[in-house]
Amino acid sequence: MKPVIVVHGGAWAIPDDMAKASVDGVKSAATAGFLAMKRGGSALDAVELAVRALEDNPTFDAGHGAVLNTNGEVELDSIIMDGRTLAAGAVSSVKNIANPVSLARAVMEKTDHIMLTDRGANMFAESVGIPTVPTDALVTECERKEWEKAKKYAVGVKELFNSQWGHDTVGAVARDCSGNVACATSTGGIRNKMVARVGDSPIIGSGGYADNLSGAVSCTGHGESILKVTLARLILFHVEQGKGAPEAIEVSLRYMGDRVQGGGGAIVVSRTGEWAAKFTTERMAWAAVEREVLWYGLNPKEEFKETLTQ
Ligand code: ASP
Repeated sequence: MKPVIVVHGGAWAIPDDMAKASVDGVKSAATAGFLAMKRGGSALDAVELAVRALEDNPTFDAGHGAVLNTNGEVELDSIIMDGRTLAAGAVSSVKNIANPVSLARAVMEKTDHIMLTDRGANMFAESVGIPTVPTDALVTECERKEWEKAKKYAVGVKELFNSQWGHDTVGAVARDCSGNVACATSTGGIRNKMVARVGDSPIIGSGGYADNLSGAVSCTGHGESILKVTLARLILFHVEQGKGAPEAIEVSLRYMGDRVQGGGGAIVVSRTGEWAAKFTTERMAWAAVEREVLWYGLNPKEEFKETLTQ
């Protein structure tokens, strides 16, 4: 089977001065994940690798570059899921781990649980040798400035997703040469969120879901809305009902918009390898690689492609 990977860098009104960095970031993360599968890596390895690259990139609201909560602190959430067995691992409210997706994978592989939070997640990280970093190391100067502005103007959280105050969670979905699917999502959440607020991203069925019987999904957007409609699972439900990947996302996002007035986006790869990236916000940076072709986009109804050079 041909490997396929799709990556997103968050659904929101990405300002023009961040557009190029966002697109470049998703293109290189998707390429890295795809090449890992071509070398024989699993879908799980590919989504972890792609998300780690995006966590390390300060352009995105995950790992380094994450948004700050009302106390001016970073609190990170992440999930990873293996479509072969439905095994999942997640962490929430971690403050000093540079790559929460790898900690989530360790939770999946080395504990009997699905999610560890805050202090317990840190204790576990220490026990498995995942290093901590000084919390300030993850905070960018740009985010500190945006946070000061947000504090001053106190913009409503829902408006965030269609304004320049929103932010850019990251995610990846993949299907490997053996037909296994996986997903991963990682975020700093929403700027100025309450201390210890956990959004959709690390919640199984909301921020992500992967099942070899249907496909894999990673979501982004207004977390409380995504949670109410369990968006990732809803999209896969529509895939199971026979809808194509693009339509399954569209129907689900429309439902979320109508039912709870929430905006967002998602990426999907189905078990047959059909993929899609769709959003209802102004923009979402995304990239996909399939058969040595790199597809990418930022604005609605816009899609570019180039031959993979590496
Ligand atoms: N869904 C994320 C959250 O609510 C934010 C995002 O996707 O940008 O935490």
